[in-house]
Amino acid sequence: MQSGEGHGHKGQSGQGVDKRMKSDLEDRQQIAGQLSHIGHKILVLSGKGGVGKSTVAANLALFLGTQSKKVGLLDIDIHGPSIPKLLGLESARAEGSEQKILPVSVGENLKVMSIGFLLDRNDTAVIWRGPMKYGVIKQFLKDVRWGDLDYLIVDSPPGTGDEPLSVAQLIQDADGAIIVTTPQELSLIDVRKCINFCEKLSLPVIGVVENMSGFVCPNCGARVDIFKAGGGARMARELHVPYLGSIPIDPAIVVASDAGRPLATEAQGSGAAAAFAQIAKGVLEYRPGRAASVPEWLRGGSGITVKPQTSVSETNHKEDQMRVAIPIVGGKLSPHFGHCEQFAIFGVDKANGHITGPEMLDAPPHEPGLLPRWLGEHSVNVIISGGMGSRAKRLFDEQNIEVIVGVSSDEPKALIEAYAAGSLTSGENICDH
Ligand code: ADP
Repeated sequence: MQSGEGHGHKGQSGQGVDKRMKSDLEDRQQIAGQLSHIGHKILVLSGKGGVGKSTVAANLALFLGTQSKKVGLLDIDIHGPSIPKLLGLESARAEGSEQKILPVSVGENLKVMSIGFLLDRNDTAVIWRGPMKYGVIKQFLKDVRWGDLDYLIVDSPPGTGDEPLSVAQLIQDADGAIIVTTPQELSLIDVRKCINFCEKLSLPVIGVVENMSGFVCPNCGARVDIFKAGGGARMARELHVPYLGSIPIDPAIVVASDAGRPLATEAQGSGAAAAFAQIAKGVLEYRPGRAASVPEWLRGGSGITVKPQTSVSETNHKEDQMRVAIPIVGGKLSPHFGHCEQFAIFGVDKANGHITGPEMLDAPPHEPGLLPRWLGEHSVNVIISGGMGSRAKRLFDEQNIEVIVGVSSDEPKALIEAYAAGSLTSGENICDH
């Protein structure tokens, strides 16, 4: 081989690479331009399929719509687009011309776009090769004309592989991600991977959602934790990312989504609908902050150990900051939770044991179900209590408020100091009726 040939050949392929990089850059700029009229872009991720990612994305979009927000819902799950089915839009097809696709309007405030709208048939299995997948995702982001939106909710492909990676990289200024999980250990391992994925991309985690978290029997009202419960909240706490809430297993979700009528509009009084509303509230309150910088220990690493994502927790709430409520009667911990006159609310920084407060609040009237809501509204996440009825305890569990029962009556200052020092002793629940 003559040396000139070699160089010439290398030069051409080098030019090819340059050209491809230039066109990719132009595409990314076009995508940024296309999405520039959108206030907030939120990715919905999950470690694996089947955990309810699309259900959460669809209901979140609908709830935001009910709050008079202009919302777009983008289903970019190229292998299993399920948004058309969930919203009863299976026969809808995207309109537009070349390089311009118009989303489908649902009611006044929601626009929907799904890869499913571009397929000839809903049951067609799509086989895309690697580079094609990237091309399709890119094309899709570039060509859909959303117009002005307050929120774009993106139902991303499941997992932490190339496809969600393409989506996260192409939507460059996303506010952050919501990670959906179910309570089983296997799903929780995937949550770690998802959080790691977000950290590597400097994509803030808006919060973790635990779906299929317990089942409330429609006949007797008893709660059964079929897949366990509370693992998502625990994992979020351990990994220092915010927790947005849990959604119970609800047969109404299956019936509604199989019929193409989303729960948000179908069963507004149900526990699951209330859970979606709470999650949507958390999203509305979220203020995007500085993207988390990629820490040294994560660069190039592929392990699943995740360390605190401080900048994200700073923007929402610090997971180390506990708000601890102690029910008080006669200046001491009330032996019976329901008989307390006041609540002493302390702040405890678990990282350094620093205590603030107390804030003394008069207990609200003794109405069923009121206290868990009231304490939740005061951002309480731990209750130190003497005895507590099992129903009240269950309601606090549902709100992800930890209850320490069986603590003997003492002055609140002594109790909170023991709690902060990790030496608080609890015993039998003396009021388990
Ligand atoms: P993913 O997007 O993660 O693959 P989907 O949102 O498509 O999951 O949900 C999978 C199935 O589970 C759907 O049939 C949906 O109706 C059902 N489902 C999701 N969440 C719940 C829930 N909390 N209770 C009952 N069924 C649910």
